[in-house]
Amino acid sequence: MKGAKDEGFKTVLVCKKDRTSLYKRFKFIDDIFEIDQNSESISPECQEYLKENGCILIPHGSLIAYSDIDYIEQLTVPIFGNKWILRWEADRNLKQELMTYAGLTTPQAVKSKYDIDRLCIVKLHGAAGGRGYFLAWNRETFEKGALDLIKQKVIKSEDDLYIQEYVKGVPVYLHYFYSSINNEIEFLGVDRRYETDIDGLGRIPASHQLGIGIQTSSYNVIGNFPLVLRESLLGKVYSMGENFVQAAKQLVPPGMIGPFCLEGVCDASGNFVTFEFSARIVAGTNLYVMGSPYSSLIYDDPMSMGRRIALEIKNAQKNTDLKVILT
Ligand code: ADP
Repeated sequence: MKGAKDEGFKTVLVCKKDRTSLYKRFKFIDDIFEIDQNSESISPECQEYLKENGCILIPHGSLIAYSDIDYIEQLTVPIFGNKWILRWEADRNLKQELMTYAGLTTPQAVKSKYDIDRLCIVKLHGAAGGRGYFLAWNRETFEKGALDLIKQKVIKSEDDLYIQEYVKGVPVYLHYFYSSINNEIEFLGVDRRYETDIDGLGRIPASHQLGIGIQTSSYNVIGNFPLVLRESLLGKVYSMGENFVQAAKQLVPPGMIGPFCLEGVCDASGNFVTFEFSARIVAGTNLYVMGSPYSSLIYDDPMSMGRRIALEIKNAQKNTDLKVILT
């Protein structure tokens, strides 16, 4: 929204009642549409309001995490980017299909708890922000972790879990912007996450960890760290992004439009293993409200991801047709 304001747009924030007092503090938010506390998505009234005011909706993670994807697809308020690709982000099977089609290396899926023969990460279905994930290295550790989650009422049964090979390396989240108008990909930033409990474990000595019987550890995101990549990795980063854009064009027309993020681990040989993508702006881009080391190589002005979206909307208005960047 700050970026939209910097590019001269008026901004409307859609948010739940209990958050309005926070967002009223910021001058770049011109207007707030409050939605009901229990509402999970954009209400029909909200949609009408947005349409009457000529708004373009910018989707983000919460929209996908908390709204029914059929409902998002049926929205008639113009959405920046390709709303059809959001289903491919939300559905684990479709997500895997697109990443494989793009030629990205992905962690091996483990079909059943009986096939666990190495360190694995066990995930919940859907975008859970890493909450409830745990590590298992055999059937017993899987069952123990699953039972903990069942007791905590996080899941109903083991069937709600998805097992994947654990990739050793360091996590990296690559922020891209694809301009379908210029047919050009821009790499605008990279971050890593600060996750509890996993990033806090190192503060407890190993002997104590064993003593207090820590078994499961969640990967709940608390914040993000900025990162600059070793320069020799950048070539690979660009080709991964380009391959993803090509694959999206073929599998989910009109393809990727605007911001997206490839999320994975870089191993000791400098290979990226991608386990997720986000087909819209991600929270890690908040690090770079004043631009990033990478955006500064492309733009003289401080270019945040939000501002880049706004710029694309302006370019479409001026040079082609708004319709090419909306769905
Ligand atoms: P979400 O999409 O729900 O936010 P992620 O899939 O991004 O969750 O993962 C949460 C955490 O788990 C991240 O720290 C990520 O690095 C780690 N992670 C996910 N999959 C793997 C994997 N296959 N190997 C190693 N770490 C992983």
